[in-house]
Amino acid sequence: MRMKDKVALISGAAGGMGAATARLFAREGARAVVVADILDKEGAATVAEIEKAGGHASYIHLDVTDEAQWQAAVEKTVTSYGRLDVLVNNAGISGSAETDLYDTAAWDRLMGINATGVFLGMKYGIAAMKKSGGGSVINLSSISGIVGQGYLHVGYNASKGAVRLITKAGAAQHGRDGVRVNSVHPGLMPPMRTSGRTADPAMRAKTLKGVPMGRAGEVDEVAHAILFLASDDASYITGTELVVDGGWTAV
Ligand code: NAD
Repeated sequence: MRMKDKVALISGAAGGMGAATARLFAREGARAVVVADILDKEGAATVAEIEKAGGHASYIHLDVTDEAQWQAAVEKTVTSYGRLDVLVNNAGISGSAETDLYDTAAWDRLMGINATGVFLGMKYGIAAMKKSGGGSVINLSSISGIVGQGYLHVGYNASKGAVRLITKAGAAQHGRDGVRVNSVHPGLMPPMRTSGRTADPAMRAKTLKGVPMGRAGEVDEVAHAILFLASDDASYITGTELVVDGGWTAV
């Protein structure tokens, strides 16, 4: 029960890795998991599934680009459950749907959701954690925050690189507040809702050739990495980047 008594808020938790993490946190005894997303129906379904299995969860509408909504989501969590122990900044969009890899509107969208969305989460989440003596922030970057790819909008790499470094800045600034801040870097995973080229089976088969383990990852494999960083098992780990990519960036 590695999440026993902990209160967690997960952005983008209506599906994919966010929902897998919400389910795992609940199974690991979380006092409450707040599922936050812009997809209200899917988010409510994730909550219903968790509660049916005996866990504790609630849903909140949160567009991570909206500062007032972030403030309200963190306030609601603290009002409802007394504290915030774990924040997973998971919401994101893909850069692989863009054909013009220098499209300016796409740059703004990618940076707004993937980078500013994480910044705002840290701004309000860490302030709440400091009030109750500490906590753990896990930011979803990507291997695209470590190496470049020729087939993604440059804003995806830039936004995920920003997440990698605001994580380290957060770790440097809040270590003495008892707040740990780490990033997780998935590799080839099930396609995102917003994937374009990277969802194409031929493209995925080509990419797989560069993955030493010879297969794509599963959402639960990322959720377990997030769980480790969220839990007290990682009590002396902050500012690190945990790569979950089957060895892709090792070669
Ligand atoms: P997904 O598309 O299944 O889930 C992303 C979630 O974020 C969705 O539920 C979506 O509704 C939500 N979201 C999008 N915009 C939002 C906004 N403005 N406000 C709130 N929620 C919003 O994708 P996933 O594969 O589960 O990805 C989760 C995270 O992991 C993302 O940050 C992604 O960039 C990263 N990642 C994914 C992969 C991959 O191949 N799937 C690889 C590396 C990193």
